Amino acid sequence: MTLAARLARPEILALPPADIAGAPLPGTVRLDANENPFASLVAGQTGINRYPEPQPAALRQRLADLYGVAPASLWVARGSDDAIDLLIRAFCRPAVDCIAIVEPTFSAYAQFARVQGAGVITARLTAGLMFDADAVLAAVADAAPKLLFLCTPNNPTGTPVAAADVRCIAAALPDTLVVADEAYGEFSGAPSLASEATDNLVVLRTLSKAYGLAGARIGCAIADPSIIELIAKVSPPYPLPTPSIAAALDALGPERMPIHAERVARLLADRDRLAAALATVAEIERIRVGGNFLFLEVADPADLARRLAAAAVRVRFRANAAPGGVRVTVGSEVDNRALLAVFGLGAPSPPNRRADVVRDTKETRIALSVDLDRAEPRHIDSGIPFFDHMLDQVAAHAGFSLTLACSGDLGIDPHHSIEDVAIALGQGLRQALGDKRGIGRFGFALPMDETRAEVLIDLSGRPFAKFNGSFSTAAVGGLPTDMVPHIFRSLADSMGAAIHVSVAGDNDHHQVEACFKAFGRALRSAVALEGKRDSLPSTKGVL
Ligand SMILES: *Cc1c(COP(=O)(O)O)cnc(C)c1O
Repeated sequence: MTLAARLARPEILALPPADIAGAPLPGTVRLDANENPFASLVAGQTGINRYPEPQPAALRQRLADLYGVAPASLWVARGSDDAIDLLIRAFCRPAVDCIAIVEPTFSAYAQFARVQGAGVITARLTAGLMFDADAVLAAVADAAPKLLFLCTPNNPTGTPVAAADVRCIAAALPDTLVVADEAYGEFSGAPSLASEATDNLVVLRTLSKAYGLAGARIGCAIADPSIIELIAKVSPPYPLPTPSIAAALDALGPERMPIHAERVARLLADRDRLAAALATVAEIERIRVGGNFLFLEVADPADLARRLAAAAVRVRFRANAAPGGVRVTVGSEVDNRALLAVFGLGAPSPPNRRADVVRDTKETRIALSVDLDRAEPRHIDSGIPFFDHMLDQVAAHAGFSLTLACSGDLGIDPHHSIEDVAIALGQGLRQALGDKRGIGRFGFALPMDETRAEVLIDLSGRPFAKFNGSFSTAAVGGLPTDMVPHIFRSLADSMGAAIHVSVAGDNDHHQVEACFKAFGRALRSAVALEGKRDSLPSTKGVL
């Protein structure tokens, strides 16, 4: 008898298996679901007149790859909230069974249990808000809970639960499903337990936090396939809206992944900076960090939450679930400044000039992130290594950070990828410059052995490109030389800049490289913040 069969509600076990057959084959006449045959009247939303797949195969596969498990071990749910609810409904008989939690923790576990009529047994973190496996076992073992929720890192205290503790608790409670909620796993640096989610261990993951898809409601449970089959039986028939499925597949495209990683790293750095700034505030007794949030322990958290709310800064205070403090999410630079201001703290530096660009066409899918006020990181993957090298020169010489990835139709020709990357980079630079306050207009000339290259830039808002030079070979390192003038034109168009390039030399490799280096150097001066940040380098007062 499987664990699922032993522990599940008998009335759920008795239900026939859920039908989660995939999408119908193309050409199938679909008269089975009483759908409306006409396309929806929503722009850009073809296909929503049809029911979605009960478990969208492509997304299930993508999530399985992301977390390193088999698709049959994973259930895609309407957020991990929904997975929590499904587990409780599959395993807990009303008025008979119970779950266990380790307080203070995420309030949804107890909430869903109460809705189901299940009991809630509570263990507690230590007085220092640490996780003590023996204390947890001692508090819950006698009650034989059907489910024990371990949130790691814990919301709201940030407390990590060591993998060894989770394993040891699962081994000590063979008749309990131990649910490791890794909602903030991407921020913790600790390895996921997903690949160990068999027997009585279940892992929850979500796209809401690290992947920025809270509004799409996509999460999942990872467990033994027999448990997944049970979850399927209690799930509504078509839980996932078609636009959410598409959004999740989009957001998890391979060219998006470097940006996600860069954002997680940035949020962690911002979190630690915020914590350091708040450490000077007398009223805050202790700051705990975890996930993408801080937990501020204060004498009167209700009052602090009220004062923040009065300044239009919303934070989370739960008098019952976590009475000792308020949980504050790490926000954008502007958000974080607003938080610091309530404590009378000025921001340590002006906000970074940064931009994220996502640009998809039939030929290319590009995601990039640029930050003019940080030199690192630089991760560039256009699919054309020599072009990557040139863009890396631009970013390095200009002194900005650039994370860029492109999935393009390189099987046909590098043309689309090169052109579209140049357009996207120009867009990113333009956005990052914002209203251009504090920037200059500049040029740079540079020798490279026998080659001389000169680039002049005016971030005037008026696109114009001029290229003076010629190449004797068709390509340098896989980059067609006829694309070089084209790249500068695309950049000029999308940046709204005048860019003049002249290059003369005998060696095409030198010529190409010198153009990009000089462009980077000219850009460095053009985007540099000089002197008073809010003065515009134009007598017109607008650029
Ligand atoms: C935010 C959060 C969730 C909910 O995730 P969704 O996928 O958005 O439902 C689950 N568990 C914890 C601990 C959370 O903090």
